[in-house]
Amino acid sequence: MKQMKKPTVAIVGRPNVGKSTIFNRIVGERISIVEDVSGVTRDRIYSPADWLNYEFNLIDTGGIDIGDEPLLEQIRAQAEIAIDEADVIIFLTNGRDGVTDADEQVARMLYKTKKPIVLAVNKVDNPEMKEMIYDFYSLGFGEPYPISGSHGLGLGDLLDAVAESFKEMDLEEEDEDTIRFCLIGRPNVGKSSLVNALLGEDRVIVSDIAGTTTDAIDSVKEVDGQLFKIIDTAGMRKKGKVYENMEKYSVLRALKAIDRSDVVLIVLNAEEGIREQDKRVAGYAEEAGKGVLFVVNKWDTLEKDDKTMNKFIDDIRDQFRFLDYAPILFVSAKTKQRVHTLFSNIQMISENHALRIQSSVLNEVIEDAVARNPAPADKGKRLRIYYATQVAVKPPTFVVFVNEPSLMHFSYERFLQNRLREAFGFEGTPIRLITRARS
Ligand code: GDP
Ligand code: GDP
Repeated sequence: MKQMKKPTVAIVGRPNVGKSTIFNRIVGERISIVEDVSGVTRDRIYSPADWLNYEFNLIDTGGIDIGDEPLLEQIRAQAEIAIDEADVIIFLTNGRDGVTDADEQVARMLYKTKKPIVLAVNKVDNPEMKEMIYDFYSLGFGEPYPISGSHGLGLGDLLDAVAESFKEMDLEEEDEDTIRFCLIGRPNVGKSSLVNALLGEDRVIVSDIAGTTTDAIDSVKEVDGQLFKIIDTAGMRKKGKVYENMEKYSVLRALKAIDRSDVVLIVLNAEEGIREQDKRVAGYAEEAGKGVLFVVNKWDTLEKDDKTMNKFIDDIRDQFRFLDYAPILFVSAKTKQRVHTLFSNIQMISENHALRIQSSVLNEVIEDAVARNPAPADKGKRLRIYYATQVAVKPPTFVVFVNEPSLMHFSYERFLQNRLREAFGFEGTPIRLITRARS
């Protein structure tokens, strides 16, 4: 069976036209599971979004700061990122200012791509102002869509136009039984070296599917009859562009790669330990419901005694509390030590990630857990669990039907999750529990 790929939409435009306002409007208030730890949802520039039946990922290129470069260079780099990373581009302008030189600069950049572009004129705050849009035909992108970010006007028509262009795209991924994974980590932790060590001599490069982001270069490898696809991330293939070393850009690439993966390898450098950025992308992997494997690379560089490995494990468990289910491997891309164990671990995690539990077995485990440790009463009321059922895989997601969902406390939910893990393993994959009232 084929899987569908989520298209990516980017918002471009000169500063102050309202990109981040529109981004936030479209993305809406998304509830983040690990908000406190990950920090991804604070100044975010990349987020899942949806419109009608369409799901996509949205990028606010304005959030990618290109350091001290002059304004024109910034705008140029942001437009380039949109062209490289998006399947559809929303070109945002400001109706109150009319067409400016900087808008024309953006337009000139966008003429270079064949990707669909939807032109929006923001700050059209009331219907009388609609005449402001006529100027914008001169940019050469057809009909301009009047919108107002602050009042939430016109966004429906704009998103209809965006969704219309999805229909013409080929959004098919490879076969579902190919395991997709990516390597995430700061520059120089050894991601490229690990990929080379994993692929060995028979490295196969495959281009992305036509019609979508043609820029990504993924690699495929068969190990013992199982196909693996390594999703390309920033830093693995230098193109010599100004924005390549910007942290926001590499985070963006990492988040995109995570979205396309079943399993995420969080690569840490044994010499340097754990940094804040590692936690942020790891938090995103958890939020996105992906399998996770910690890979501590450059293990060859340490003077080790019998405590070194345990100390590292304690550190990781302490810093990534929300990923207590993720296995930890210590490897060296240089000496190839334990590199061969990566594929079998990725496969194991991917199988757990897609695991389906029979309802009868699931309910036995839940009943047994409840019998041993009933939910505590709350103001005289006690949570009663009637039955549970698995509603999804990738990650395994369970609905628990109860008398009164508000009686399901975090700690009790955690207890049930732990019982499910004890019973079924689920090593390396998050699991989700949803509590519903039995109707
Ligand atoms: P960005 O630099 O393109 O991301 O722009 P921002 O989203 O930060 O918006 C720049 C300014 O324009 C802010 O003060 C916003 O409040 C304001 N703004 C955004 N959308 C609208 C709108 O539809 N109407 C009006 N009047 N102001 C807006
Ligand atoms: P990336 O930026 O994460 O892709 O990192 P690279 O793969 O380019 O590696 C950065 C540097 O670390 C290079 O000089 C590698 O040779 C070195 N390196 C990578 N893996 C190892 C390792 O396991 N041991 C040692 N000693 N050096 C390594």
